[in-house]
Amino acid sequence: MSKCKVIAICNQKGGVGKTTTTVNLGIGLAQAGKKVLLIDADPQGDLTTSLGCPRIDELEITLADKMRSVIRADTNDSHCGIIHHSEGVDLMPANLDLSALELLLTTVENRERMLKDYLKEVKQDYDYVLIDCMPSLGMITINALVAADSVVIPVQAQYLPAKGMTQLLQTIGKVRREINPSLKVEGILLTLVDGRTNLARSTQEVIRKNFGSALNVFTATIPIAVKVAEAAAKGKSIYAYKADSIAAVAYKSLTKEVLDGEAKIRNQPAHIR
Ligand code: ADP
Ligand code: MG
Repeated sequence: MSKCKVIAICNQKGGVGKTTTTVNLGIGLAQAGKKVLLIDADPQGDLTTSLGCPRIDELEITLADKMRSVIRADTNDSHCGIIHHSEGVDLMPANLDLSALELLLTTVENRERMLKDYLKEVKQDYDYVLIDCMPSLGMITINALVAADSVVIPVQAQYLPAKGMTQLLQTIGKVRREINPSLKVEGILLTLVDGRTNLARSTQEVIRKNFGSALNVFTATIPIAVKVAEAAAKGKSIYAYKADSIAAVAYKSLTKEVLDGEAKIRNQPAHIR
């Protein structure tokens, strides 16, 4: 059995820190000596761009090609197209072609399992695969949830994630019931935390109160810090850009929680099964 753990970073809301978390959790795990593959599962290609690939339209091989190969049962080299980043992680990039692939999937049998089947070919080489999901609960995101062992849910700390969160947990529950019974919620991650405001503090408390009894809410929270956005613009992690920043310390704490995490994952509550 593969010892690789596949984690989907998922929330159908945009701008909550999914891509940033994929980069900095992924590189954090690599710094802890783990072999890490990051999968860009968003046709906007933000993960690919923020790891330093500027012209994503010119990429020769992307995730869409790999999933097309699975659909056609081609026997290509599964590893070709994987990009090596200087900070020790690998990347399977994406661009707009993933939208075309999502349309193609509607006509395919076992359409929910194509990403899982692709990962089967490569995951024996990794300790962790992190999938950066797009801001929707469409077929590519379903593929990510089917392929995953667990889900990290970044949530912007300023807003109560009421309706969207219910929808996401229902989708996770449906995937669990129908296809992937062992799918777990790794944890809810509070991002873009502005610790100076009372609103942020009270919202955090409400989130911990509402979700904390049923799901793991990470103790680590990610502060709003302009350095985080600057690092992405330079194609670097926060550790390489500003190692002593509060955001670097925060992402390091998150990494540690994920590494220590197995024991912490509680039994999932009945209402999302
Ligand atoms: P998502 O993938 O959920 O759409 P991103 O990770 O792309 O979200 O983040 C949205 C925007 O906010 C990006 O421009 C990113 O650089 C910025 N950002 C993310 N996390 C932080 C943070 N902790 N502090 C400041 N800016 C951040
Ligand atoms: Mg993103």
